Amino acid sequence: MIFDLFRLDGKVALVTGATRGIGLGIVEALTDAGAHVILSSRVPKPDVVERFKDAGRKVDYLQGDVQDPAVPAQLIAEAVRLGAGRLDILVNNAGVAQHGETHSFPAEQYRRLMDINLDSVFRACQAALGPMRAQKDGVILNIGSISGLISNIPQPQAAYNASKAAVHMLTKSLASDYADDGIRVNAIAPGYITTDMTNGGLNDPVWGPVWRDMTPMKRPGSAMDIGAAALYLCSPASGYVTGEVLVVDGGYTVR
Ligand code: NDP
Repeated sequence: MIFDLFRLDGKVALVTGATRGIGLGIVEALTDAGAHVILSSRVPKPDVVERFKDAGRKVDYLQGDVQDPAVPAQLIAEAVRLGAGRLDILVNNAGVAQHGETHSFPAEQYRRLMDINLDSVFRACQAALGPMRAQKDGVILNIGSISGLISNIPQPQAAYNASKAAVHMLTKSLASDYADDGIRVNAIAPGYITTDMTNGGLNDPVWGPVWRDMTPMKRPGSAMDIGAAALYLCSPASGYVTGEVLVVDGGYTVR
């Protein structure tokens, strides 16, 4: 059956930024498909984890601030332990957005943004390659952005855009370098999705209408729109897909 290709029974997945927003949508999708999902976030949210357990889903939780250079590898090591020696899926979703004119963008904000959006993704991929290469099997999914493909308006956000473009290129490079090891590496480039990250902009009297008008479908997407795409890219349904940046944006980038 074609739907069997979307099942993840017996698979172990680590999702960063997992307790709200897009990450939560991804956890919903992967656990629904039968995966054992290890949720990670900076701020513990025991109620979210308990809700999944109460619904009969197999989940665990790891706290970690991925801005700390040591944390991504620690999360991978702990996930492998919780997965009884396996890590089948890594979803690098944790991220921050920071707007601001480049000529006055504070150096410490730039460093923080790159640490979280790019460096932590590189470090997590690096650490996950160990167990995945040993298994000769694995899937990495990075959450990029349409901001890695186009320069959004009206808000200035050059640093964020650059961080996401780098995530896309990291994705393609790893897909090329590790295909021989049975590892697929893909990214999703979401358009505007309703989360804490975009609530301010979507409700802004200037930004909100521009964001909607520039989207052919005239509305933001939902976390589950990204969860569904993530399930495809993390499951055997996408077994011949690697190095792809899948755009899920209501048509924003076609214009
Ligand atoms: P939210 O702001 O709603 O959630 C961000 C998530 O990232 C939270 O779970 C947060 O954890 C986690 N996070 C942030 N900083 C750290 C850190 N230092 N260490 C560990 N975890 C951290 O954002 P979204 O759900 O909207 O965004 C998720 C991803 O999707 C990001 O990479 C974002 O750039 C990308 N994206 C979002 C779009 C959108 O329109 N929403 C569009 C395109 C891309 P905690 O809850 O503990 O704070």
